[in-house]
Amino acid sequence: MNHLLSPDELALQARAREFSQKIVAPRAGAIDRDEQYPWDIVKALGDAGFLGMTMPKAYGGQDRSFLDAVLVIEEMAKSCTVTARIVVETNMGAISTVMAYGSEAQKRLAAKLVLSGDKPAICITEPEAGSDTTAMTTRAERRGDKYVINGKKHWITGAGVSKLHLIFARVIDESGEDLGIGGFLAVRDEANKQNSGLRVSKREQTMGLRGMPEGELTFENLEVPADMVVMPPSGFKRGFADLMNAYNSQRVGAGTVAMGIAAGALDHALAWVKEREQFGRPIGEFQGLQWMLADMQVALTASRLMLYSAARSRGPGSAFPDPMLAAQAKIFASESAIKIVNDALQFFGARGYSRELPLERMARDVRMFTIGGGTAQVLRTLVASKMLGWKLPQTRDGYVPKPSMRDAAE
Ligand SMILES: Cc1cc2nc3c(=O)[nH]c(=O)nc-3n(C[C@H](O)[C@H](O)[C@H](O)COP(=O)(O)OP(=O)(O)OC[C@H]3O[C@@H](n4cnc5c(N)ncnc54)[C@H](O)[C@@H]3O)c2cc1C
Repeated sequence: MNHLLSPDELALQARAREFSQKIVAPRAGAIDRDEQYPWDIVKALGDAGFLGMTMPKAYGGQDRSFLDAVLVIEEMAKSCTVTARIVVETNMGAISTVMAYGSEAQKRLAAKLVLSGDKPAICITEPEAGSDTTAMTTRAERRGDKYVINGKKHWITGAGVSKLHLIFARVIDESGEDLGIGGFLAVRDEANKQNSGLRVSKREQTMGLRGMPEGELTFENLEVPADMVVMPPSGFKRGFADLMNAYNSQRVGAGTVAMGIAAGALDHALAWVKEREQFGRPIGEFQGLQWMLADMQVALTASRLMLYSAARSRGPGSAFPDPMLAAQAKIFASESAIKIVNDALQFFGARGYSRELPLERMARDVRMFTIGGGTAQVLRTLVASKMLGWKLPQTRDGYVPKPSMRDAAE
C-alpha cells in the first residue's frame, strides 16, 4: 500500500507506528482491565502532535488531511482501541463539525480544549431515538440570549471525561415553534458538577472498549448561550442534514479503528502460525489456515483502500468525506474486521480464548463498529437510497416519502 502514500504520509505513519508500539501497546491490557480512561496516553498523544492534527494552523492545528488521521488511527488501533478512538474524536468527530460550521469563538474554544487533551463528545442518541435520530425529544428552548436544554442522551462516548459536548436537540423558538434539530456546544462544568445542568446519570457496562466511558447524560435546564449554536449555512430547518453530513468523518474514523484492530490481530496471527507447531510442523504450513490467512489479507487490503479513498474525498470544496464512500467503507471495514479478528483468535486455539493474550480484548472491542456511528443496516439503507436517488425512508421532518418513495425524490 506504500505506493499510495507520499513520503510525508509514510513518515507520519512510521512515527505513529513507533509511538503505538512503544507507548500504547504496553498500556493496552491495563486500560481494558482497569476500565480507566488513559489520561497518560492522552498527554503523550498531545506531546507527539496527534491531537487536533486536522485543525487549521490558525487554531493551533497542523492542517493535516483526513488520510493523515487515518494513518495514525490505524497504527493506534493495532495496539489499543481506546487510544485510536481518542485520535478519531480529536481529529474527525465533533471537532471537524465545529471547524466547518462553527463561529470564530466556537472554533477557538473547541481548538483550545482539544489541544489541551479534551476528547469532545457527540450527543445524538436517546433511549427512544437510536437509528431514528429525528425522533429525538431533547429540547432546546430559546429564552432571551440563551437556550435552555432539557432531555436525556445515552451511549455517549466520553461521558464523564469529555468537557466539550456537541448536543443535538429540537430547537423551540420563543413562540413555541419547533424549528428542527440544531447543534449546541456546551462545556461540562468541572468545578460545579451538581449545578451545571449536564449530569452523567449512568455509566454503561460495555462488552469492550472498557477504558472509554460510555454513559447516559441528563440535561436539566442546561443553559447554553445563543452564540453557542453550531449553525450550518442552511440554518435550522435544513441544518440537521448538514450536521449529520459531518458524521461522515466520524464514520471513516470508526471504520479505520475497526480496520486497525483487524490489522493488529492479523500481525499476531502471522507470528503465531510460524511459531506454533502441531503434527510436527508449523501450523502455518496447513493449507486450511493459509487460505484463511489469504482471505483475511484480501479483506484487510480492500478495507484499507476503501477507507483511504473515503478519507481522500474530503478536500477543497468538501469539508467532509463523501457520504457514499464513507458509508461503504464503514460497512465493509467493520464487518470484515469482526471476521478477521475472530479468525485470528481461532489460530491460537485455547490461548486465543485466554485473557493473557490481546485477541479476546480485540474481539470484544471490534464488535461495536457495526453498531456505533450508524449501524451496518442503516448505512446500507443510506447507500441504497443514494443509488436509487430516493430519500431515506426512515427520516422524519418532512422527508417521509409519501405517497411513494419515488415521488419524494428531490
Ligand atoms: C460503543 C458505542 C458508542 C456510541 N457512542 C455514541 C456517541 O458518542 N454519541 C451518540 O449519540 N451515540 C453513540 N452510540 C449510539 C449509536 O449511535 C446507536 O447505538 C446506533 O445509532 C443504533 O441505535 P440503537 O442502539 O438505538 O439501535 P436501534 O436503532 O434500536 O436498532 C436496533 C436494530 O434495528 C436495526 N434497524 C433500525 N432501523 C433500521 C432500518 N430503518 N432498517 C434496517 N434496520 C434497522 C439496527 O441496525 C439494529 O440492528 C454509541 C453506541 C455504541 C455501541
